[in-house]
Amino acid sequence: MKAYAEVLLPIPLERNFTYTAAPEQQSELRPGTRVAVPFGKNRMYTGLILELHNRRPEAYQPKEIYRVLDRNPLVTELQLRHWRWIADYYMCTLGEVFRTALPSVFLLQSETRVLGVEGTPEPEGGHSVQESLVLEALANRKVLSVDEVGDLIERKNALPLLHRMLEAGQIRMQEKLQERYKPKRARYIRLHSDFASEEALEALLAELSRAPAQSTVILQLFQLRKGSDKPVRSKTLEEQAGTGRATLKALMEKGVLEEYFLDEDRIDAGRGPAGEAATLNPYQQKALAAIRKGFAEDKTTLLHGVTSSGKTEVYISLIRECLAREEQVLYLVPEIAITEQLIRRLREAFGSGVAVFHSRQNLQERAELWYHVRTGSEKAHVILGARSALFLPFQQLGLVIVDEEHENTYKQFDPAPRYHARDAAIVLAAYCGARVLLGSATPSVESYHNAKTGKYGYARIERRYGDVLLPDIQLVDLAVQYRKKRMQGHFSEPLRLGIQEALEGKKQIILFQNRRGFAPVVECLSCGHAPQCRHCDVSLTYHRQRGELRCHYCGYHRPLDTSCEACGNATLDTKGFGTEQVEAELHTLFPEASVARMDLDTTRGKYGFQRLIEAFEARETDILVGTQMLTKGLDFRNVALVGIMNADTLLNFPHFRAHERCFQLLTQVAGRAGRTRERGSVLIQTYNPLHQILQQVSTDDFEGMYRDQVYERRQFGYPPALRIIRITFRHREYNRVGEGAAWFARSLRMLFGEQVLGPEFPPVARIRNQYHKNILLKIPSGQGLAQTKNSIKRIEQSFNAISQFRSIRLLYNVDYI
Ligand code: ADP
Ligand code: ZN
Repeated sequence: MKAYAEVLLPIPLERNFTYTAAPEQQSELRPGTRVAVPFGKNRMYTGLILELHNRRPEAYQPKEIYRVLDRNPLVTELQLRHWRWIADYYMCTLGEVFRTALPSVFLLQSETRVLGVEGTPEPEGGHSVQESLVLEALANRKVLSVDEVGDLIERKNALPLLHRMLEAGQIRMQEKLQERYKPKRARYIRLHSDFASEEALEALLAELSRAPAQSTVILQLFQLRKGSDKPVRSKTLEEQAGTGRATLKALMEKGVLEEYFLDEDRIDAGRGPAGEAATLNPYQQKALAAIRKGFAEDKTTLLHGVTSSGKTEVYISLIRECLAREEQVLYLVPEIAITEQLIRRLREAFGSGVAVFHSRQNLQERAELWYHVRTGSEKAHVILGARSALFLPFQQLGLVIVDEEHENTYKQFDPAPRYHARDAAIVLAAYCGARVLLGSATPSVESYHNAKTGKYGYARIERRYGDVLLPDIQLVDLAVQYRKKRMQGHFSEPLRLGIQEALEGKKQIILFQNRRGFAPVVECLSCGHAPQCRHCDVSLTYHRQRGELRCHYCGYHRPLDTSCEACGNATLDTKGFGTEQVEAELHTLFPEASVARMDLDTTRGKYGFQRLIEAFEARETDILVGTQMLTKGLDFRNVALVGIMNADTLLNFPHFRAHERCFQLLTQVAGRAGRTRERGSVLIQTYNPLHQILQQVSTDDFEGMYRDQVYERRQFGYPPALRIIRITFRHREYNRVGEGAAWFARSLRMLFGEQVLGPEFPPVARIRNQYHKNILLKIPSGQGLAQTKNSIKRIEQSFNAISQFRSIRLLYNVDYI
């Protein structure tokens, strides 16, 4: 019998706490089981059993475990091992990993608020006295905190009761409003296929000459289709023809027109029935063989395939094999909001075994999925998710796919654990004996390096699927365009002509500008003053539609003044341009075209993102202007032209990864063009047409980019040549942050000398009234990573012992900054 339990709490403390287990609890307690425990002054937490032992703590009198919350461990031993790795590697506490890893529904604590649920049926045998008390109180008060429920039922701790009620669906936790996406089933209309031939059509029009309203509708339909196969909404036709719904109906009854719903129809035509495997082309097969070879050698394998080469189909074949062996598959994507297309494809192939996991899902759904994964249920054989899906309790993990592995959304920057999901997934897979496949058209320099040096397996697809050519990429020299007076607004002559041509051909256009708002800077022409954020060291961005100046770091905003706040002259002007300005200029240049904008401002609301995508897919939008959101794996068939409004801001970004990112971003945006037979084109506007990176983008020279980057990073000491850890100091007081960081850097230098860079202020030194300062530590390959981290932690302990530094926040980013 073990009398003590080591309990992990979801708080950022380095240590765990020992509790006593009552004899009747002991048989129920196992590592990974949740318990309700008292902590601090009258507070209750949900904790996790790590270990049972007989070591009585010396420093304090252990408290009792209040209640055991799970019959079976919620968290597996393997997960705990993985959490420990994350905490060690990314230099955070196990409690922080715990808090991030578990869906919050599993982590009730004193402050959690609970709400009633309308219309839940009474359970058989009625509610218990305690349940009735809670339900009655909720009927009157709407919201109760966990502690209030405790008072109500005269118990110290209400967590066990609330957990039971939550699971029975009698109550719910207060959460941010959940927006569940339901695809819109818009009504579309088309001519019945009987009238596809010209003769049939002529006969029809002749026949309808006696029914003018009906022939108006038919002619209007042709007008709307503009000679293409663009789908037409019933509603649009009705409005444009001005004949009312009755005429449409009459034509449908005659079998001339027929209606259909888009969200059923837009699934790629020409594919086999659901569940049938696509036949891989020879390039895909070769890649698959190379992947198998990598797997056979127990290596993480990189699939490097150009955009639209059919990587997803290769993943699908591998998933199919796993499912045949009854293994689970984790499919990681950089951003779940934009994977509607992928979900459809996977559901087509694997039906209901595909589950989606993300943080915007409601809590119940996430808890349910947790149990499905934990029990290896058929409902969750393939789990598609963003980085946090990594924390699910896999039972039989066979394969992890990390799609678009170069994307930086895989890195969590705040809060801790500041982990990289790709790297953490590789470790998880090693623990589970699973394979890992990384996929990208533009691999990260690190992963490509690992492939080159033989650490990773490597598979390449150099051709797009179906002999589609990669787009033709041209650079447009803005300096020449301005000199020759060929610019209109921010549009060069070649770009305007390109857009014109695409519009005439009924094709769609994507325009990329990596800044949102109208203009990033407002400046007074008289005195040069530029309005700054009150809380951050940045200039405010002008948003014209809202008539506001906004801070993109903290959200602070205020109306734009009519005159300069410094000198009083009415001479405010804007500098630079964002997506809003591009959109405004398009309205002037191409008044006929329908234009939509996709950036943080237009996708914030309910389903904003999906609506924009749907409208673009349905070809209701001719030109889509957007920020880097546009790059993320969207597969539109009808895009003939992609325009980059200004590549220079990407080139000039002060970061060792800037050039790599620029290459990736531009290649990915370019990859949105011409995904069907006709070759797409890409125009990149820049003042630096001779810049090496832009040359490499335009010639699709990934190898050259990689060579240059690795060379530079060897010269200047950055990954993959060596490892880095960034230590950030945060505090409200400028001086204190400076002194603290300087002290820390001195201590580090005593151990690591030249390997320590800084402290330095980052480009934006103050955010939300907190000053930031960074130290960068470089760790050459011979030097042990674990020892280095231990040394840093020891310095941190001394640092925290100095009273004036104690309030400084310290945070670590390992490898990826
Ligand atoms: P990637 O993931 O490399 O960007 P996709 O897998 O999305 O490429 O493939 C691009 C297009 O080609 C998709 O529309 C896909 O349906 C089609 N495709 C790819 N491979 C096949 C195949 N083997 N059979 C049929 N269609 C395919
Ligand atoms: Zn701000």
